[in-house]
Amino acid sequence: MTAAKGTVLITGASSGIGAVYADRFAQRGHDLILVARTKDRLDAVADTLARRHGVTVRAVEADLTDRTGLAEVEDILKTDARITHLVNNAGFGSAAPLASASVDEMERMIAINVTAPTRLTYAAVPSFTARGTGTIINIASIVAIGPEVLNGVYGGSKSFILAFSHSLAKELAGTGVSVQVVLPGATGTEFWDIAGLPASNLPEGWVMSAADLVDAALVGLDRGEFATIPSLMDLGEWEAWETARQTMLPHLSSAVAAERYRAA
Ligand code: NAP
Repeated sequence: MTAAKGTVLITGASSGIGAVYADRFAQRGHDLILVARTKDRLDAVADTLARRHGVTVRAVEADLTDRTGLAEVEDILKTDARITHLVNNAGFGSAAPLASASVDEMERMIAINVTAPTRLTYAAVPSFTARGTGTIINIASIVAIGPEVLNGVYGGSKSFILAFSHSLAKELAGTGVSVQVVLPGATGTEFWDIAGLPASNLPEGWVMSAADLVDAALVGLDRGEFATIPSLMDLGEWEAWETARQTMLPHLSSAVAAERYRAA
């Protein structure tokens, strides 16, 4: 049975946040295309959701740091007109300081956290705008606001996602295509084991479940919110940051240097 609601393509859907997004979109009646490297885990998620929700679920085994794997998913986004949502979720982080982190690992992190969502967005946007409808959900992190909190390349990669989403939302305004950027705080997934700092090391009161995170993010999506930070209690703090940015924007270019930089 094909769901009438459109297909949702989710990267990194074999575990954690991506697997919960898959469950929730299937529950809403969407067909799914799920992407990750570990085929058996992906197939298990796909089988469970197809059975549980009666939707069609396709599992695509692809390493998104590999050009061939990435091209395969780009091609699916370009050619499958049933796709209405792209969830750029696959990624990993690190808690290693710059000096002790492997630069090759950092490059792989940039490939999955930056290059993959960029290329997948470029693959999806032309079809979405041509059809006048579509949704892009980019999973950033609270380290997009505080890139110095964990590993610097991880922070930088998530700051890129926030900046890219800002730009994308502005460019796509009025096209019928919406952009949401989600900034999870610490979430209880395998992410922390892979990052080298198991979540058990974090204060319990900091760690949200992936289910609560995704359910809150979907409330934000349904409200048409651009940036959703489920763990931030006072929305006014985000709004104040946005207001400060917007206030500064018209003053950032000038033919003359500011008074403080003029030679005495
Ligand atoms: P997770 O459980 O480790 O999930 C990561 C997913 O990405 C897995 O499905 C993994 O599957 C997939 N993946 C990793 N490398 C891949 C590659 N090269 N190609 C294709 N798929 C790949 O972690 P998570 O917490 O759910 O992370 C999801 C997103 O949330 C990430 O972007 C992360 O940066 C972000 N985030 C997480 C937290 C947190 O505290 N957990 C906080 C803020 C933001 P395979 O290994 O099978 O490929």
